Amino acid sequence: MHTLQSYSKRSSLKKKRRRLVVVLLAIILMILLIGKLTSAPEEEVVAKENTIPSALLPEKETRPAEEPTGKVVYLTFDDGPTTLTNQFLDVLEEQDIPATFFMQGIHLQKINLQESVKRATEEGHYVGAHSMTHSKEKIYDNGLFVSEMEETRSLIQAITGTNPKLVRPPYGSVPGLKNQHIRNQIAEAGIKIWDWTIDSNDWKFKDNPNQIVESIKSQTKRNTEVILLHENEQTLQALPT
Ligand SMILES: [Zn+2]
Repeated sequence: MHTLQSYSKRSSLKKKRRRLVVVLLAIILMILLIGKLTSAPEEEVVAKENTIPSALLPEKETRPAEEPTGKVVYLTFDDGPTTLTNQFLDVLEEQDIPATFFMQGIHLQKINLQESVKRATEEGHYVGAHSMTHSKEKIYDNGLFVSEMEETRSLIQAITGTNPKLVRPPYGSVPGLKNQHIRNQIAEAGIKIWDWTIDSNDWKFKDNPNQIVESIKSQTKRNTEVILLHENEQTLQALPT
């Protein structure tokens, strides 16, 4: 009787312990889940840059060996060349700042603008491709992304003698480049996608260069930022600042 009692006591103790372990596991699981859920929005912000497979991102080894440490800002100007390109180059020369231009094929074909494109590369700026037509329908819906980029790259090569691998997807790589077929073509062509971390929204701020500067400042929080700008009048005015 005595042994039976102590056995049932031990057995109920075991059951209690097991229940305690189950409850503890459930609590740990809940804490982990809550942690994941609450950290999700932050992850999403970063995800915008990471949605393209690493194979499509600029390769580490293609970056300059003397890659600067600390805070770095890349200025990128889209949709040129324009009649303003030379003035952009003047400001950049004055400030001794190299920049990146993502140019559009239909503008590169304009003979009167080609001298400024050549000047850009001669003065140490990078000229990459930004498609021929900038048409969402043609580039993404009809899958002409790579062929338009290749055509634009050929134009840049003919004008400047450089062979740029970096391309900027019109409207950004999300959602257009979720298309697996286009992604495979990008990998095959060996071109590299370069999105941005800050959209200056400069095109919205006509006659208001200060607002462009404010818009950029309010979004600057990482050590390395890639700023999306365009070749327009108000951006040219904001550029020295
Ligand atoms: Zn554009």
